[in-house]
Amino acid sequence: MKKRRRIYEGKAKILYEGPEPGTLVQFFKDDATAFNKKKHDIIDGKGVLNNRISEHIFTQMTRIGIPNHLIKRLNMREQLIKEVEIIPIEVIVRNVAAGTLCERLGLTEGEVLPRSIIEFCYKKDELNDPLVAEEHITAFGWASPQEIDDIMALAIRVNDFLSGLFAGIGIQLIDFKIELGRHWENDAMRIIVADEISPDSCRLWDMKTNKKMDKDRFRQGLGGLVDAYSEVAGRLGIIPENEPQRGSGPVLVSDNDKTEE
Ligand code: 5GP
Repeated sequence: MKKRRRIYEGKAKILYEGPEPGTLVQFFKDDATAFNKKKHDIIDGKGVLNNRISEHIFTQMTRIGIPNHLIKRLNMREQLIKEVEIIPIEVIVRNVAAGTLCERLGLTEGEVLPRSIIEFCYKKDELNDPLVAEEHITAFGWASPQEIDDIMALAIRVNDFLSGLFAGIGIQLIDFKIELGRHWENDAMRIIVADEISPDSCRLWDMKTNKKMDKDRFRQGLGGLVDAYSEVAGRLGIIPENEPQRGSGPVLVSDNDKTEE
């Protein structure tokens, strides 16, 4: 069996060389990490759920013209994606105070913010992904001023889309993180949304009960992560509600999509 070339392994995903030049295969692991890997666990079924939820969100974004890297889902754990040059910045959009914003500014969790706030963090595990200003981004050449404008416009569009999508299923979008990359088509470059959008990278609270339905269940040791992610997937109409998506390695959707490990 031919072995695929592994391009990159992150905390929750692995990237493999894709079948065509300019493509990659993104594999969703069950690993959960928090506090820069100080807390680590394997949560059976998390990767399968994030693959499905992220596929659903990216597919809907494509439909309304938000450019992103998804080509198609291949199987339970893998997606075929466009290769991009990752911009080393995590873009966080916040609607309600939570997480590090509360720690930094002494806000109360759950306070609705006067307006949506965009933050940038430098993607550097060794430094705990520190918060940076636009000045750092342009001075160090991570992105140009024009690219920052494009990124902010894209982040606001994603926020509006996700807020509506989740509100429609009784979930409040508190905040989220996206990653972006440069993608070339012929000679034109444009910035597209990459990585994943899932309960690992968003804070999602049930609108009626404020129950946390995201990775804070792991970060805060609340338990019930797979059940919460399954409920998100169920409400999105991706899987029958309350059907846990556990176990199993890649399951092929069709022979044409065949990938090898
Ligand atoms: P905070 O800065 O409050 O920890 O996170 C803000 C938002 O960005 C949360 O929705 C959180 O899940 C997401 N986020 C921030 N950093 C990361 C990261 O390194 N990985 C993932 N998956 N999400 C992150």
